[in-house]
Amino acid sequence: MRLSPPKKIIVERNVANSSLLEQLKKTLPQVPVEVLNHRKDFPKDDPDVLEIISFKGRLLKSCPGTRHYLCCGYQILHFGVQCTLNCTYCILQAYLNQAGLRLFGNEEEIFSALLEELNRNPQTLYRIGTGEYTDSLLLDPWTRFSRRIVPLFARRPNAVLELKTKTNFVENLQGLDHGGRTLVGWSLNTRSVQISEEPRTASIKQRIDAAQRVSGWGYFLSFHFDPLIEHKNWRQGYEETLDRIFQAVDPGRIVWISLGAFRFMPQLKPIVQRRHPRTRILYGEFIRGLDQKMRYFRDIRVELYSFMWETIRKADPQLCVYLCMESEDIWREALGFSPEQRGGLPQMLDDAVKTKMSVGLQCIRSNPCQGETPPGDGGSFGCV
Ligand code: SF4
Repeated sequence: MRLSPPKKIIVERNVANSSLLEQLKKTLPQVPVEVLNHRKDFPKDDPDVLEIISFKGRLLKSCPGTRHYLCCGYQILHFGVQCTLNCTYCILQAYLNQAGLRLFGNEEEIFSALLEELNRNPQTLYRIGTGEYTDSLLLDPWTRFSRRIVPLFARRPNAVLELKTKTNFVENLQGLDHGGRTLVGWSLNTRSVQISEEPRTASIKQRIDAAQRVSGWGYFLSFHFDPLIEHKNWRQGYEETLDRIFQAVDPGRIVWISLGAFRFMPQLKPIVQRRHPRTRILYGEFIRGLDQKMRYFRDIRVELYSFMWETIRKADPQLCVYLCMESEDIWREALGFSPEQRGGLPQMLDDAVKTKMSVGLQCIRSNPCQGETPPGDGGSFGCV
């Protein structure tokens, strides 16, 4: 896949000397840079501008779960917002009021606050991801952000990093001292969904090839089938993608696979209809869930999950599979157990980290879910 450079980089003055901007000047020497004093002067609706600002908000945020469904207790580290991959179903379309990509230039400050937080709670196991408000690796060829963040986690006894992507931009990961503490995760789908709903992303083959490469460099892997979409020949399509995964990589390197049936906030519908008039994904059989999102009818969700669960179990019965934002009774019906029987969903995922990645054996557990619901989605937010 190709990445088109921005037509301009606009920088907030207080991060004009940042190492991020220095890096961008090297990788994008042809792109003009403009420094502005105030963020309010930045253009709001120019998708071709790359903005660099200083981040002032809360460093780590709980994954935007809701109290109505079981949440995984994941923490999100912000390094930027917005994405140009333009998937038809992306919640960011309804959530963000700016069109351009935005990165945070005060990286050193963010990293030192992160390390302080990890040091303050040595008995807490942190599962941290960067791919909720953007794609973790989309801009990596320009920013080389992975080269700075991955080594930070290499010696952490109580944290793992997950980089989630729909790209195949993995070059910068080669040769890094990752210490076995980084998982590289791909959001996957059937080939036909990729072509119709994610046309700007890397193909399924390119993503799995990239997974194979990073696995060869010693990284752990994760895969996210989210959104699972009911469409013509979906069984055959999902089986084909799963087969490709298990032919390409050793299941022992996969820490978890998540499943999440397509769901959306009602306010996303007119936006998708306007921006992607050809898509058919909104016209299935939906009901409004307890969190007010539109979800497939229960029978459809159970069928999707059961099929995926059975297919994955044929390849590796021990693999950690979890449902994103589903109720306990759906878990029982589709997978035959509920996370509560295994100590809760955060504990299940902590156990997968401890067993596969040999991390944090002395840690107690991850942060409990805060049950936050920002405007927009719960669970599946940006990329996954
Ligand atoms: S779903 Fe993910 S990859 Fe697709 S546009 Fe949204 S953030 Fe980007």
